[in-house]
Amino acid sequence: MSIDLQPYAQLLVCPACRSKLVVDGRSFLCRKDSCRLRYEVKDDIPVMLSDEAKPVAPDEWAAIVQRDLSANS
Ligand SMILES: [Zn+2]
Repeated sequence: MSIDLQPYAQLLVCPACRSKLVVDGRSFLCRKDSCRLRYEVKDDIPVMLSDEAKPVAPDEWAAIVQRDLSANS
């Protein structure tokens, strides 16, 4: 069984730009549109290192953030 990442998204911020995060599957995504870094969760441990994070394409980022906004409203 894997941990619920949602509480972590409320606590953590993007280490690169200090913006809030959104959960996408088993990863976190930065909410800032000029950043868009994805942080993987490995063995239930969020890897919050900007060196390890990979940017998401703008279209994919927009879809994920939009889905999160509508899920939480
Ligand atoms: Zn960021």
